[in-house]
Amino acid sequence: MSSTLVGPDSAEYAAATRPSNSVTPQQPARVAPVAGPDDIARALEEVATLARTSGELLQIVPQATGHGAGAPVGAGAVLLDTSRLTDVVIDPSSRTATVGAGATWSAVNTAAERHGLLGLAGSAPTVSVSGYTFGGGVGWLVRRDGLASGSLRAVRYVDGSGRSRTATDDAPDTVDREALWAFRGAGGVGIAHTLELDLVPAPDLHAGALLWHVESLPELLAAWAATVRALPISVSCSISVLHVPPLPLFPPALHGRVAVHLAIADPDGPDAAAPLLRAMRAAAEPVSDTWGPSDAARLARIHLDPPVATPAVGDARWLVASTPDIAEALLSTAAGDDSALVLLEIRHVAGAPARRPGAVVTPAGDFVGHAVGTLDRASREEIEAAFARARSLWAAADAGSTPGSWIDGAAGVPDALPADARRRASEIADAVDPSRRIRRSRLLG
Ligand SMILES: Cc1cc2nc3c(=O)[nH]c(=O)nc-3n(C[C@H](O)[C@H](O)[C@H](O)COP(=O)(O)OP(=O)(O)OC[C@H]3O[C@@H](n4cnc5c(N)ncnc54)[C@H](O)[C@@H]3O)c2cc1C
Repeated sequence: MSSTLVGPDSAEYAAATRPSNSVTPQQPARVAPVAGPDDIARALEEVATLARTSGELLQIVPQATGHGAGAPVGAGAVLLDTSRLTDVVIDPSSRTATVGAGATWSAVNTAAERHGLLGLAGSAPTVSVSGYTFGGGVGWLVRRDGLASGSLRAVRYVDGSGRSRTATDDAPDTVDREALWAFRGAGGVGIAHTLELDLVPAPDLHAGALLWHVESLPELLAAWAATVRALPISVSCSISVLHVPPLPLFPPALHGRVAVHLAIADPDGPDAAAPLLRAMRAAAEPVSDTWGPSDAARLARIHLDPPVATPAVGDARWLVASTPDIAEALLSTAAGDDSALVLLEIRHVAGAPARRPGAVVTPAGDFVGHAVGTLDRASREEIEAAFARARSLWAAADAGSTPGSWIDGAAGVPDALPADARRRASEIADAVDPSRRIRRSRLLG
């Protein structure tokens, strides 16, 4: 039987070590491109043998798409590539998706929408269900349907000894019940291969992206601040200042310019969003406006995330209800042509329900502040200085913790979990993998 591990001279190695977030080069000792739970167990065994023969400590790092990449992956690591685990099965009667750990949200929602359903996807179609959901997962239906972590019903996973297990709320073994709690927002434990998730109805999905020249920022933010808090629970939106790259998904008139961007969605029809859209369109005429009936593919484009690997670093914080009062001061810090940020965003998440118990299953604030810089545009020092300015402003509305999945390109996320949740999640990780053969989630600090 051939080895599950491949080395730097193979095409699989080359493909797996090109993560979507290209901030840190990945040069692991080997890659394990797995196709199922048996492969995962075999990879664990082979890594143990390799470590014994070479005398090196080798840590296994699960990765689906590398959108969450940021920690070094060097000669002491074996990258376990789950991107072939792409099965998607929809059961419309129980509103459940059963998906492989490497499935992307695009694949899940393309299948789900045939039944009038959607999973709780985030802004980019190429993000995998796994890392996003295990990190909390703030999507476009968040206010009506909650974080994606709360939609997780069960996870089939492999522990540090190679044993296949199933994490459910009523599993006979406490470790599996606790593991599901940790998969819901503490970044996950062990190596997942199959997830079962809630799907939700989207009877009249509307969504869109509106873009304006940045010169109208004060008027637009005044209109947004006056209306956003009263929006019905079905409407989720984000407002941002965006440095527009010369990509076809943007209107040519904005290429190389700074824009104000509203991304907005409602699965229940066009009416509830009308007050905000009316106020903002009256404040200034948009350069482009795609609001209208939507499908999953269109929903996945409203945030206008770049479709190419990007060396992005990010910072984020949950913010309290008074955030609209600081919105203009905050977003203005990214509005200059010379800003080191490509994006400074405020996402409205107020009222999101907790669907199930878990480490992080509901937002810790009514808004998220999110700043992103890319290392192809500015140096890390310049981006850090811009983050410091954003932090000094959003401190006035700080809800006290960080949305874990939103910290791009970082090795660790210190503030994603309250201290007691972090302790509990670390204990679960130790129970699942006492020898620490699998790299711990970066949300555990
Ligand atoms: C363009 C872009 C848009 C985004 N939009 C949103 C958004 O709208 N909302 C939001 O909440 N987040 C968003 N994110 C953040 C995203 O949720 C995180 O980057 C997430 O970690 C990506 O998950 P992944 O599995 O695709 O990435 P990966 O880098 O492959 O995985 C990230 C981490 O998840 C864990 N993991 C992955 N697979 C497994 C497994 N099989 N078993 C155990 N652990 C595993 C590992 O700890 C891994 O390091 C966005 C990121 C980008 C780059």
